[in-house]
Amino acid sequence: NAKDSGKNKFKFYCSNLNDKIQEEFILENNLRYALDKNEFFINYQPIFDVNTEKIVGMEALLRWKHIKLGIIPPSKFIPIAESSGLITKIGNWVLKNACIHAKKFHDLGIDVFISVNVSVNQLKEGNFARSILKIIKETGIDPKYLDLEITESISMENIDYIRDVLNKIKDLKVNISMDDFGTGYSSLAQLKNLCISKLKIDSSFIKDIYIDSNSTAIVSAIIAMAKNLNIEVIAEGVETKDQFEFLKEHGCEMVQGYLFSPPVDENSIRKLIENQY
Ligand code: C2E
Ligand code: MG
Ligand code: MG
Ligand code: MG
Repeated sequence: NAKDSGKNKFKFYCSNLNDKIQEEFILENNLRYALDKNEFFINYQPIFDVNTEKIVGMEALLRWKHIKLGIIPPSKFIPIAESSGLITKIGNWVLKNACIHAKKFHDLGIDVFISVNVSVNQLKEGNFARSILKIIKETGIDPKYLDLEITESISMENIDYIRDVLNKIKDLKVNISMDDFGTGYSSLAQLKNLCISKLKIDSSFIKDIYIDSNSTAIVSAIIAMAKNLNIEVIAEGVETKDQFEFLKEHGCEMVQGYLFSPPVDENSIRKLIENQY
């Protein structure tokens, strides 16, 4: 009997695994046509200067709305886009459209930077720097307003190759931000090595300010360290007034989070920015 139930458990586990594989299979097949079917759109989350509380930048966050499957979160489809190789094309689409969007503000004399997430697979693609140059030319954006967000895990593998690509990007006058800082393995030396101009403290640490004394210490240490390295700091996932006050007190330059605004569509961010002027 015990054997039987063991068998059943195994079966159950198996079918769960199948479900997951099947879901990924379905998503991957649909992801293939998502660009052509215009199923992607971008939301923008404003990034605020801590002292003036004005919008100084915005992060482009990709959204996928499938006609039958509905809205699929990036945490689900980005990994699939990466493993299938589709991320290169999709990533270029995001970059181009985010730059077009930001350029409209610059044409009005509004200086907001645009920050775009980039996967390691895009960097590895070979002619990444060339595709960035192409986008700069096509959209007419001044590259000083463009930030590319890379994640910390990137910096460990193929470090020499990655550094080469990032140097080429820097030569174009585009900025590099370290996203999700604190969750990976990068060292101080690496931040310097990779010419990082901004770092984004991961929301998991911000959430625990005032809850876990370790997080409190980590956040203030990251800010102090970044200051010494001449790297600007953005706190991600700021949800409460207390968190904001703590960050302000410790000299964090910029904040992003639900306390100020969630990611919103193109029209809404335009209104938010225009209302400041
Ligand atoms: P991320 O780059 O760390 O982006 C920040 C995430 O935090 C976003 O989730 C945003 O909606 C969420 N967020 C913002 N403020 C708050 C807050 O106050 N509280 C909480 N709990 N969350 C907040 P989202 O949009 O679901 O994106 C998830 C991840 O997907 C992103 O994390 C990024 O790594 C990836 N992603 C999104 N768009 C792209 C893209 O175009 N390319 C690539 N390669 N990855 C992308
Ligand atoms: Mg990001
Ligand atoms: Mg990211
Ligand atoms: Mg992040």
